Amino acid sequence: MSEVSVLIIGCGVAGPVLANFLKRRGYNPIVFEKVSKLGDAGASLMLMPNGLKVLNKVGVAEKVEKGSQPLEAFQDLTSDGGLLGSSDLPQSFRSKYGEPAMGVKRTELNLMLKTMLTELDVDVREGWELEDIEEGEDSVTAHFKGHGSVTGSFLIGCDGIKAASRRILLRKRGLSEGLPDFTGLTQTAGLSPTPQALKTRHSMRNWFGEGVHMIAYPVSPDVTSWALTLPEGEGNEADWGLCSAQEIAARREKLLDKISSWKDKSPAELVQKPSRIIKFGIFDRTEMSPNQWYSRRCVLVGDAV
Ligand SMILES: Cc1cc2nc3c(=O)[nH]c(=O)nc-3n(C[C@H](O)[C@H](O)[C@H](O)COP(=O)(O)OP(=O)(O)OC[C@H]3O[C@@H](n4cnc5c(N)ncnc54)[C@H](O)[C@@H]3O)c2cc1C
Repeated sequence: MSEVSVLIIGCGVAGPVLANFLKRRGYNPIVFEKVSKLGDAGASLMLMPNGLKVLNKVGVAEKVEKGSQPLEAFQDLTSDGGLLGSSDLPQSFRSKYGEPAMGVKRTELNLMLKTMLTELDVDVREGWELEDIEEGEDSVTAHFKGHGSVTGSFLIGCDGIKAASRRILLRKRGLSEGLPDFTGLTQTAGLSPTPQALKTRHSMRNWFGEGVHMIAYPVSPDVTSWALTLPEGEGNEADWGLCSAQEIAARREKLLDKISSWKDKSPAELVQKPSRIIKFGIFDRTEMSPNQWYSRRCVLVGDAV
């Protein structure tokens, strides 16, 4: 085993991809993830060619492509069925950029990335939440809630938009940062069987209604991922998260209230039959200047920065 241990905080997207690159270069990455069991996460991601290109380098793109299908078009629509604009550009992505654009279920991507790490024999520690970082001349020590400390040569903060690594690095520079700003918008997302009317073309569709936006795209031959964005006065995390089977019906009715009068009936059809509904807030962060992205033995990557 290499002497150079790299402590990677977060096993979302950036963390496992970096761990793969480092392991293959002879480093010893250790991935720490605060969630106690990786897998069940969010709804979906639309992976653009640049994202799939990176996943190709870590051997995961092929698996994504097997389960999904390339995007053929973008369509922007009004709630009364009018077409605001459309483009066939995604059809040229593979020839232009080497990869298509493709929707993927987030849970499946997370599990593919975790399996990739297991196959590479990377040490992944679930249920390890970073609390503090101490940097020395030649090493860095990370402290974890309920697990004590681990020392390595470098630390890479890949712990997302609410990153502890970012907060700690800024604190060491005498800067304090609170939670990310709630934008006043929430998104409720679901996965549903694809309505017949949407099967004609694998499109990413956006509907713009009065005070409501909806997006939908395929994540497999028969399943469409959708999300409704709505204004909501206060951020109330207690009401967010994954709906239980009992809550789905009530949440679905509230959403249908906003879109059932739309001329285009596909959005309502999607909302009527979700296998899963999850609600989250949309947050924003103040931009960091490049000299704040790193310290002597640490660097931030992905949403953390
Ligand atoms: C609603 C929504 C929709 C999106 N849709 C798209 C899309 O369609 N296409 C697209 O390309 N991007 C999309 N994004 C953005 C994309 O999800 C992020 O850019 C991407 O996930 C960032 O990857 P990351 O690895 O930096 O962070 P994350 O994926 O957020 O991973 C961070 C990981 O760190 C863990 N963690 C957090 N704190 C700690 C801690 N203290 N200690 C240890 N572990 C910790 C978290 O549990 C998580 O697993 C979307 C984002 C949101 C919120």
